Amino acid sequence: MNSAVVGINWGDEGKGRMVDYFAERYDVVVRFQGGGNAGHTVINDKGKFALHLLPSGIFRENVVNVLGNGVALDPEKLYNEIESLEKAGVKITPTNLKISSRASILFPWHRLIDELEENRLADKKYGSTKQGIAPFYADKYRKKTVLAGELLYDDDVIGTIKKALEWDNLIITDIYKCEPYSAEDIESWVNKYCSKIKPYITDVKEYLEEAHLNNKNILFEAQLGSLRDIDYGIYPYTTSSTTLSTYAPIGAGAPELKIDKTVGVVKAYSTCVGEGPFVSEYFGDEADELREKGAEYGAKTGRPRRVGALDLVATKYGVEVQGATSIALTKLDVLSYMKEINVCTAYLIDDVKTNKFPFPSQLKKAKPVYEVLKGWATDISNVRSFDELPIEAKEYILFIEKYLKCPIEYVSVGPERESLIKR
Ligand code: GDP
Repeated sequence: MNSAVVGINWGDEGKGRMVDYFAERYDVVVRFQGGGNAGHTVINDKGKFALHLLPSGIFRENVVNVLGNGVALDPEKLYNEIESLEKAGVKITPTNLKISSRASILFPWHRLIDELEENRLADKKYGSTKQGIAPFYADKYRKKTVLAGELLYDDDVIGTIKKALEWDNLIITDIYKCEPYSAEDIESWVNKYCSKIKPYITDVKEYLEEAHLNNKNILFEAQLGSLRDIDYGIYPYTTSSTTLSTYAPIGAGAPELKIDKTVGVVKAYSTCVGEGPFVSEYFGDEADELREKGAEYGAKTGRPRRVGALDLVATKYGVEVQGATSIALTKLDVLSYMKEINVCTAYLIDDVKTNKFPFPSQLKKAKPVYEVLKGWATDISNVRSFDELPIEAKEYILFIEKYLKCPIEYVSVGPERESLIKR
């Protein structure tokens, strides 16, 4: 069985906790896109962790974790993450972590260019986390970075990396008028970080094909969500990679694999980190209260997340582009303080009501149309079955399910591994 766990909205839906839960029944967990620019929060018997690059299966002893070729492989971030998990008692070896030799390397100057560009854009910025993701993917597609496998196969890998640096130094000096990134610095960086991750680099395609032939269960873990997809999201306020499940086998390293099940993760209300249109956004006290109750601060940056009512128009679009076969609805417990709950079921654009998710630039004209549902106003964090939920909470779930035309299979009522209702 091959499954994907993907974000349906802007990211931060709780994918990490769902992958950590599912990983018990899977043999392999694969990250297939994105990099260290977001965080998947996992709380389990070993503690609380914000994973940035490592797959969320890393805590399960018999799970093999894979970083596929679609990932933005930042050796420095990865090395630091491995070290901090090892300190917490998590064992990481080339047996339970495999990095695709075809993954491209994100270099420190990608982070520098990211920062220079956000500074240049000033108040028109996209809200980048400055982890170098956009410059990295730009370089990957113009073939100006280096594959991880070259650390194994290239006798003059430092020379090859310096050639890649030549190009980016032109950008740094000619466009941004800054000092070039020093070639000596890169040598020590490679020696320090690349050498540490080298033992994990392998032919992931071969490994995944063999795992599949041996009937192993493979779980693909996405980063961010549908609305941040480079092709189908709210461009240009997207990330620079494909966040959709159909890309998973390609970005993982075994394009011939088929996905049997796609679990789309949806938060019970909407949040968005960074810039871009967000139709059902709350402001003022209403926003502050929801942000506090939901602890909505970025796992990577600590930035306060923008919060609002569940936007079903965007969510339905997200479900469609992901081809989700079921939904995990997370953070339902957070809404327990509300007497009434707004749900955005349509947009008004130029006074015309629509429930079709529009072309990105039309979103800034869109105004939310709300339906108001009854709240349950009671703590549900200890509930473990659908039947035990208050009637209003059941109605909230059923309303969403009917609108999305996709079964809600899981409902989470707390961040812990066991705070989950399976229907
Ligand atoms: P991801 O990037 O999609 O994995 O999501 P994040 O980790 O960025 O954000 C999800 C946050 O919500 C994390 O802090 C989780 O611990 C927390 N969380 C996940 N599910 C629940 C839930 O059902 N209830 C509550 N209260 N918190 C949750």
